Amino acid sequence: MPNSRRHFKFEVRLAAYIVALAIAAASPLLALLEPASIVVCGQAALPGGVIKVVVDGRVAAKARCYFNGRRYRLFPAGKVYRALVPVEVDAQPWSSGTVTVHYKSLFGDKVLYSGPVRVGEPDFDVIKLKISRRKTKLYRDPAVPDARKLISRALSKRDQEQQWRGLFIMPVSGRISAPFGQRRVRRNKTLSYHLGMDIAASSGTVVAAVNDGVVAVAGYFPLQGNAVIINHGQGVFSACYHMSALATREGLSVKKGDAVGKVGSTGISTGPHVHWSMFIHGVPVNPADWTRIVY
Ligand SMILES: [Zn+2]
Repeated sequence: MPNSRRHFKFEVRLAAYIVALAIAAASPLLALLEPASIVVCGQAALPGGVIKVVVDGRVAAKARCYFNGRRYRLFPAGKVYRALVPVEVDAQPWSSGTVTVHYKSLFGDKVLYSGPVRVGEPDFDVIKLKISRRKTKLYRDPAVPDARKLISRALSKRDQEQQWRGLFIMPVSGRISAPFGQRRVRRNKTLSYHLGMDIAASSGTVVAAVNDGVVAVAGYFPLQGNAVIINHGQGVFSACYHMSALATREGLSVKKGDAVGKVGSTGISTGPHVHWSMFIHGVPVNPADWTRIVY
């Protein structure tokens, strides 16, 4: 009896090996049963640019997207799923990163896509920084850290639904007095980057919502002045700063072109203008791109 039991055990083990081998051999075939087509736009991105990852197919809803190890949510966009990945303004030119799309199946984590993204050299404006006494005083305002916290908390929301449609519009028409990415230097050292686009316009001009969304923030802050931040859904936000007056309030739905305020020079500002910022998951990106590219 002990002999036949040992024999039985051996047979069970052999059967288990055969099943395991069969699964290993069949997994490429199973992969074919879970087709996904993946399109990545922006493989040659500039700092402040956006990498768009579109996943289509049966596994799209369960796919995960990563850029340089950080995970970005894939949100529904019509029949496909899409992740918008921001490239930081201070990303090293000529560096490269990797976009990967994974799918967790019964047989473990499977890489559906892995491809490089090369960061190009931006032609950012450079200006020598001059700090006036008034500005230094504003930066020291005790309300500054609270404002920063409030704004970053608002920008961290990720509503499932896409609110924006088509191209974004400029909040006012006028001369761009400071482009996105402008590098502020002192003694050859980069102190900061301009994280939005400044548009000069006369005081009192109506400031428009750059696209559809819900007003996430409408208030006064020491550096930003009168500010409106709009939640466009799926981690995308726009902000307009330095206004003389607000024409909306938190929680209101706005349509592209609706008045949200008036041009002014409140907060840290040297003349009437609108500072327009765009954010993805809290990372500032170049607003100019959003007026030319449909994301
Ligand atoms: Zn600005």
